Amino acid sequence: MAHPDSLPARRWFAPRRSSDLLSSATQLFGPEAKPIAVEGPVAELHHVSKIYGSGDTLVRALDDICLTVERGDYLAVMGTSGSGKSTAMNILGCLDRPSSGSYRLNGVPVESLDDDALADLRNRELGFVFQQFHLLPQISALDNVMLPMIYAGVPAEERRERARQALERVGLANRIDNRPNQLSGGQQQRVAVARAIINRPAMLLADEPTGALDSRTTEEVLAIFDDLNGQGITILLVTHEQEVGDRARRVVHFRDGRLAG
Ligand code: ADP
Ligand code: MG
Repeated sequence: MAHPDSLPARRWFAPRRSSDLLSSATQLFGPEAKPIAVEGPVAELHHVSKIYGSGDTLVRALDDICLTVERGDYLAVMGTSGSGKSTAMNILGCLDRPSSGSYRLNGVPVESLDDDALADLRNRELGFVFQQFHLLPQISALDNVMLPMIYAGVPAEERRERARQALERVGLANRIDNRPNQLSGGQQQRVAVARAIINRPAMLLADEPTGALDSRTTEEVLAIFDDLNGQGITILLVTHEQEVGDRARRVVHFRDGRLAG
């Protein structure tokens, strides 16, 4: 794996409107930069199945899933426990691979990649938000948000400025020096959202992002998602809360590893 300092600087999400996406992508990427898909779906699952175990213990966690996430979409995945939501998120998040079928992320067929290339694609194209925030407790909000840029090889001064802007964007400009335990749950999740978008991912993946929050702080986080989606960020979240699903542009339901509409 290349040393972080030797990696090319990654892009930062700056556009205020989705119509800015194309021009800023063109500005930020020189001819030697990675090809960036600015058209076509962000994610495509094509007849994806995932099988665990074999024989008597065989579980068909996903069964022939076809799902397309368009650029700028805001999709909620719902379904009962055991219906395959996490398995689907793990595949969409490049943390696991399908048993059969194909997955394209920003136009790249993941089955064509080895594990290192898959991890690189994941770091480049995806931002993650989890139920339990997963912030580092001993460092400030600002330092937490700066972390992904270290791996992306962004110079130190730029890291600090971009992290400050990202925290401002999620309404935490006056909290940048606070450690996670000095912040409410909703504020911590907003820090996690700022961290997730800092490298300008093609898609934000959130697994039960409001699962640990009360209804007021849930609203804080949902308002940020509305705002980010309004600015062109593609969001895919898993939830079992109807009020959260209702905020998305589109909802799909999993049942026994299949899409139920
Ligand atoms: P959900 O997130 O909707 O609760 P999961 O995707 O976690 O559902 O699980 C779907 C099915 O796959 C369940 O029957 C679960 O028990 C099974 N499963 C998930 N992960 C594994 C695994 N690593 N090994 C065996 N079975 C698994
Ligand atoms: Mg799950």
